[in-house]
Amino acid sequence: MHYTHEHLEIQKTLRRFIDAEINPRVDEWEAAEIFPAHEVFKKLGGLGLLGLNKPEAYGGAGLDYSYAMAMAEALGHVSCGGVPMAIGVQTDMCTPALARFGSDELKREFLAPAIAGDVVGCIGVSEPGAGSDVAGLKSHARKDGDDYLISGQKMWITNSLQADWMCMLVNTGDGPVHRNKSLVIVPMNLPGIEKARKIRKIGMHSSDTGLIYFDNVRVPQRYRVGEEGQGFVYQMQQFQEERLWCAASSLVPLEDCIAQTIEWAQQRQMFGGTLADQQWVQFKLAELKTEVEALRALTYRACDLYLEGQDVTELASMAKLKAGRLTREVADTCLQFWGGMGYTLENRVSRLYRDGRLASIGGGADEVMLGILAKTMGIAKRPPRP
Ligand SMILES: Cc1cc2nc3c(=O)[nH]c(=O)nc-3n(C[C@H](O)[C@H](O)[C@H](O)COP(=O)(O)OP(=O)(O)OC[C@H]3O[C@@H](n4cnc5c(N)ncnc54)[C@H](O)[C@@H]3O)c2cc1C
Repeated sequence: MHYTHEHLEIQKTLRRFIDAEINPRVDEWEAAEIFPAHEVFKKLGGLGLLGLNKPEAYGGAGLDYSYAMAMAEALGHVSCGGVPMAIGVQTDMCTPALARFGSDELKREFLAPAIAGDVVGCIGVSEPGAGSDVAGLKSHARKDGDDYLISGQKMWITNSLQADWMCMLVNTGDGPVHRNKSLVIVPMNLPGIEKARKIRKIGMHSSDTGLIYFDNVRVPQRYRVGEEGQGFVYQMQQFQEERLWCAASSLVPLEDCIAQTIEWAQQRQMFGGTLADQQWVQFKLAELKTEVEALRALTYRACDLYLEGQDVTELASMAKLKAGRLTREVADTCLQFWGGMGYTLENRVSRLYRDGRLASIGGGADEVMLGILAKTMGIAKRPPRP
């Protein structure tokens, strides 16, 4: 994948916005444990950045997927993980299936305002009893006339305390667990929805993470995305874009972390020289930069094949796995080189250490990625399931 002039211009526009409107306020939002998603999304929508690869008919730019990747990568310039994650939820996690499989009516009602930045969306897959085991989720929708009555719980949902709608994966039938689910767009102001709790976390502080209860929430069946019973399949496809987004958005923070650590090591005096004079430090940082370049190559290759219309389950899982593991390694190694300064809250490296830890858990834990790879490599067989 090569970025053209157009890709670079989009990245410059986003970078200007980040420098002017986001980074100066990040510390305030981290302390408040929330950021004003409606305000930020409205401005991003105004710049045309929330629908780069979405259809023009709904306000998108109609560009190919490489532009979404370019945007994900440039979001890495935000000086925390929470705000980019919230934006990524809107662009690459709760809208891909809606854009691909939703009816025209559904897209006009929910996708178009999400692209304009008039509303905030969230993706509701995980539950208190089912995270890695997506097929085992328990929320259910019972048919009542033309409506669904939805009951259950969703947990860990990014943006959900501010969201106007949720793309919810819910059981709409009693059949086999991979064929009994649907994705349903649920407006978050309906009677029966309780935003029960904001979950406090070790990192991603500026991002709101909610526990949401649903008690007989009446939603029209026409709010279902695509075919009934295909929700699991749609969500697995949607996860490909979420996982590629995770990999692409990790590149700049990793590079920055290494660069800032080099700068620190070069000025930190010790033993009659600087920390950077220690060969161990030089070699570790050189090794880590090499690893980041390898992750970039893997991510770009997955994107290239995705652009060609190929199934990139394997490469996207590898990229997500590598991004999670490498983020932990880079943040931990660099934090060590900062010594006590690395252990302070104000330090950008310690923020990556806390925020970046999520990359090995959210959107499919490392072991889930390994499980997918074991299957695509033909090593593991899927266990029988009721
Ligand atoms: C900050 C944050 C934001 C999130 N945002 C969202 C969101 O917007 N929408 C949403 O739907 N979800 C969201 N999640 C949920 C996230 O996707 C889940 O936390 C994740 O899928 C793991 O599920 P779990 O927490 O239930 O852990 P569990 O499923 O209980 O897994 C626990 C651990 O078990 C291990 N494990 C899992 N499977 C295997 C295996 N096959 N073999 C060996 N070990 C294994 C892994 O180490 C895993 O971390 C978010 C989570 C966090 C923390």
